[in-house]
Amino acid sequence: MKAPNFNYVKPASLDDALRILAGHGQDVVPIAGGQSLLATLNMRLSAPDLLLDIGDLEELRGISEVADEIRIGAATRHAEALDSPVVATHLPLLREALGHVAHVGIRNRGTIGGSLALADPAAEMPACVVACGGTLVLAGTGGRREVPAEAFFNGLFETDRGADELIVEVRLPVQAAGWVSAFAEFVRRRGDFAIVGLAALAQITEGRFNQLRLAYLGCTDRPVIATGVAGIVASHSLPLTDEAALRDAIAAELDPTASPGWSVGTKLQLATVLTRRVLATLADKAE
Ligand code: FAD
Repeated sequence: MKAPNFNYVKPASLDDALRILAGHGQDVVPIAGGQSLLATLNMRLSAPDLLLDIGDLEELRGISEVADEIRIGAATRHAEALDSPVVATHLPLLREALGHVAHVGIRNRGTIGGSLALADPAAEMPACVVACGGTLVLAGTGGRREVPAEAFFNGLFETDRGADELIVEVRLPVQAAGWVSAFAEFVRRRGDFAIVGLAALAQITEGRFNQLRLAYLGCTDRPVIATGVAGIVASHSLPLTDEAALRDAIAAELDPTASPGWSVGTKLQLATVLTRRVLATLADKAE
């Protein structure tokens, strides 16, 4: 199918973009890499009057290190973040997960901000940003505000972003000394959205998980920190032998929906297996 007719504007600055957004209400839709939006237009799931192309705005591009946080502009491409030495050094979790986002061609156009704005519960970036304890910076004509990632995702494709706001940046704390990270996902084919996945950060001392931040993909309608699962893991010493307790904690905390070919039971089993593997990887890295 072809997209319905739409108007198109490419603003020269962020201020212009915000003014256009504020002036057109719900009828204007920002487009960054277009890797998700163009598909929904072509399938006629969306029919905006005006596409606001923010993908090349310099103010939204780039990766910088400021004190103990890394700032990633919303229009930074997945491929740029994947190749960034700053990300590789300070955000190893994000670096590892970026390699699982779609395929090279999509990563060359798709943006970090687009992925966060879309809020697909099976996407890698939202889960990583929540696991890292990141903050989103939103801008409108009235000014800027900061929203913790855990409060930004409201549900399936739902976020805290107002219709007159753009995501301008995501801020992520550098991975602290003594912490380790791991990412794993189960996909049908490399590059597909995850059926189930897990982004994890941990601090392990003397064979125990002191702190553990687990954010699942594909198992909840939004990425959240699985505190119940972390609590069970913290109460055991390594290696974890009580897989039943782990499975029960995962079943209590996650709420996957069945999809064609994937029952709820299968997803919970996949989540349990991935959790066990990720915990083992974290323990290996901590040694
Ligand atoms: P766009 O498509 O331009 O926009 C997506 C949405 O975000 C739109 O609603 C748009 O209005 C809004 N938006 C964009 N930028 C902003 C902003 N700065 N502020 C406010 N709103 C904004 N993604 C994954 O995470 N994992 C995968 O495995 C994966 N596999 C894919 C496989 C295929 C075949 C395809 C086509 C896509 C896949 N994707 C996957 C999606 C891809 O990563 C997208 O690039 C990404 O989700 C959206 O980024 P974008 O810049 O292309 O956003």
